[in-house]
Amino acid sequence: MRVLALLDGTLADPDAPLLRVDDLGLVRGDGIFETILVVDGKPRELDPHLDRLARSAAILELPEPDRAAFERATSLVLDNWSGGAEMALKLVYTRGIEGGDGTPTGFALGLPISAKVLAQRAAGISAVTLDRGIEPGLAERAPWLLLGAKTLSYAVNMAALREAERRGAEEVVFTTSSGSVLEGPTSTLLAVNGRTITTPPATLGILPGTTQAALFRAAKREGWTVVVEPIPAADLHTADGVFLVSSVRKVTRVHTLDGKPLTDASALATELADLYESEY
Ligand code: PLP
Repeated sequence: MRVLALLDGTLADPDAPLLRVDDLGLVRGDGIFETILVVDGKPRELDPHLDRLARSAAILELPEPDRAAFERATSLVLDNWSGGAEMALKLVYTRGIEGGDGTPTGFALGLPISAKVLAQRAAGISAVTLDRGIEPGLAERAPWLLLGAKTLSYAVNMAALREAERRGAEEVVFTTSSGSVLEGPTSTLLAVNGRTITTPPATLGILPGTTQAALFRAAKREGWTVVVEPIPAADLHTADGVFLVSSVRKVTRVHTLDGKPLTDASALATELADLYESEY
């Protein structure tokens, strides 16, 4: 089950060709996207996702996305979805065709959540730390690297996941060359110690996560301490719990890191999942 809606307010056949072969999103990965979780017909964190789409567009110097058009395309997908209770809604926005008049390409595509992600949500994941080659200060020093924008150029992130698989793991925790934690290829990292949840700052050049923000909101309300500060990778081995969170994977526990079992955080995982769900 997939539903595709275009920015002009029409539905399109997701099995039919849509993009031109010279679309810059295709030939250069020059574009941006968002993936939004929809549960029982309700999109979660829609405004923060649309805000981040606009921020990514600004970083790439793309025309400002037409928010009303994306909202209309979103409603159209939701109204025509007849799949399961959960859906991943992808919003895509590219620089349009090479040598064209600068009109961006955009669409909204509703997809089922993969069985793999559902299994990982339940069982947790093994991860490896991999160097991302980002040092503190690089994001400000080199804005052309587009750090912190959610671009369509995810080939590096996907390559990292293949490297994880080669090492017998399912996921990746990116680190700076000096061993500070960054994020997953498609997720935000959280470390929990006692009643304190810590995540690395987006200023390191990582994506500010909407799931992390929602969870922090709920946690703060329930009396937890939430902290945004750098985390040395070595600290993950002594933490009470390590989690990768994202719209699609929700709160997923990391049970093994670099081949070593982490502290059993199954109970903590349930607690955090309940906190996150309490926002909706
Ligand atoms: N970091 C990266 C690189 C991502 O691609 C994503 C989501 O896909 C996230 C973090 C988590 O963001 P969110 O919680 O808004 O889905």
